[in-house]
Amino acid sequence: MSWENNIHRVVPYVPGEQPTGEGIIKLNTNENPYPPAPGVEKALRDMADDYAIMRKYPDPEAGMLVRALSDYYNVPDESIFVGVGSDDVLAMSFLTFFDSDKPLLFPDITYSFYEVWADLFRIPHKQIPLRGDFTIDPEAYMQMNGGIVIANPNAPTSLYLDIPAIESIIAANLDSVVIVDEAYIDFGGESALPLIKRYDNLLVVRTFSKSRSMAGARVGMAFGSPRLISYLKDVKFSINSYTMSHDVIRMGAASAALSDKEYFEDVVERIIATRTDAAARLRDMGFKVLDSSTNFLFVTHPDHRAGDIYSALKERRIYVRYFNRPRIDDHLRITIGTPEEMESLYAALKEIFDA
Ligand code: PMP
Repeated sequence: MSWENNIHRVVPYVPGEQPTGEGIIKLNTNENPYPPAPGVEKALRDMADDYAIMRKYPDPEAGMLVRALSDYYNVPDESIFVGVGSDDVLAMSFLTFFDSDKPLLFPDITYSFYEVWADLFRIPHKQIPLRGDFTIDPEAYMQMNGGIVIANPNAPTSLYLDIPAIESIIAANLDSVVIVDEAYIDFGGESALPLIKRYDNLLVVRTFSKSRSMAGARVGMAFGSPRLISYLKDVKFSINSYTMSHDVIRMGAASAALSDKEYFEDVVERIIATRTDAAARLRDMGFKVLDSSTNFLFVTHPDHRAGDIYSALKERRIYVRYFNRPRIDDHLRITIGTPEEMESLYAALKEIFDA
């Protein structure tokens, strides 16, 4: 068994279940219940006609997507990095920016992948407790560190931290890279993106997985100062230029999604409307619901254990997310589905509570 002593062992991130089959209601991985913009389908069909392009390596710079993002967000090309979902962008960023002996700081309750990457890349890290109400205390990030990562809005809490607070963290840490992971920003709150012009230590990470209904396409991006982005590209191109670039299909599809602003706004509006309604309905059923700026709700019930509700819903083929972790092991994270899916959820909950 000696070879096992030389192995880099890690405790992997555990993604939400991806059950398949008929009649399943999936409210557990924050996917968008609506399809991508119609233009995405056309882009995919056009690409299919040109399938021979697969023979060639893709553009390592993913130029087509970068230009579309540059136009859309009004950010120069040199400030944009793209990857295979924001998970890839974040992993590359951890590897690039957090090479200090001082600890990387992130909240104790946040996207659990941060801890996995910190362990994998052997980055010393310190988890900063959220306040009792699950809000982030900006002051707590004003201590010695080798980097900071904050999801805003945070997951799984769904809470948004306002820009003055985010800026206070960045401004107090000019000697560290600060990553703001904005996976859910389109569902509420103001983006930190404009701040990249003023803070060359800020990286803003975004994804097409949530608001643009393209989790399956794996498209993520980061915005930052040209210097920050060039260091990120150096690391990416030192691992694999291509798989972390975008193949032609994703690039065409992603550009098509960006170009249909009306559809995007309509989908986001619908989800926000369903979210508002869902929060009220769940509160009526006795749940405590945090104020969500995302496409999910973080809830707890005074009379029913979250783990029990999770299991009872699963028996009824409704999947929500339960984290068996300290401080949040009596909470559920429920993705906003279509109004019809949410009705099925309320009916199932009623049945469970009345049993
Ligand atoms: N950041 C946060 C906070 C998330 O919840 C997720 C989704 N699991 C991601 C990043 C990664 O999303 P993706 O890789 O699909 O872009």
